[in-house]
Amino acid sequence: MIKTAVYPGSFDPITYGHINIIERGMKLFDKIIIAISYNQSDKKSFFSIEERVSIIKKIFKNEKRIAVEPFKGLLVDYVKSKNAEIVLRGLRTVADFEFELQMSLANKKMNSKLETIFMMTEGKYSFLSSSIIKEILSLGGSVRDLVPDVVVEKFNERLRERKTDIVSWE
Ligand code: ADP
Repeated sequence: MIKTAVYPGSFDPITYGHINIIERGMKLFDKIIIAISYNQSDKKSFFSIEERVSIIKKIFKNEKRIAVEPFKGLLVDYVKSKNAEIVLRGLRTVADFEFELQMSLANKKMNSKLETIFMMTEGKYSFLSSSIIKEILSLGGSVRDLVPDVVVEKFNERLRERKTDIVSWE
């Protein structure tokens, strides 16, 4: 039986912290579906859902065992629609744990067959989040070693479109 895991998240943008979880997850699962969630209000995200899909597809273009898709609605329904029963999540801090525990228990309540598998972040990525990347980039700092080049390129493209170097995340 093919073991498929769904790795859900906002990925706004994807970082090497996420990529590290995906690469390590590939040793445990036959297939990983990176499922990009529409935020409740997509206006709040920096990259559109299409941009996030396109960035992540570029990063994993040579990896046949990875699929990238947007999803809406309940994660449990999406996972079922993919004939999968495993959700992969990364854990950085105790703060992550509390939220993740609640989410995994709520998902289990909705589908008792669903298993959430947590992987601890690699130490060097424990401080890394999508928000910190946006903050550093918008203030002109370097995010080398934190995100792939394609993220920086897309970020700069979007800034040029907006014709501003001041970004507000509100
Ligand atoms: P969400 O918006 O659902 O929190 P994110 O895109 O922030 O999604 O992250 C998706 C998953 O990746 C979550 O399980 C999150 O804890 C994990 N993650 C995010 N950053 C890191 C990191 N630096 N190291 C390990 N896991 C991470």
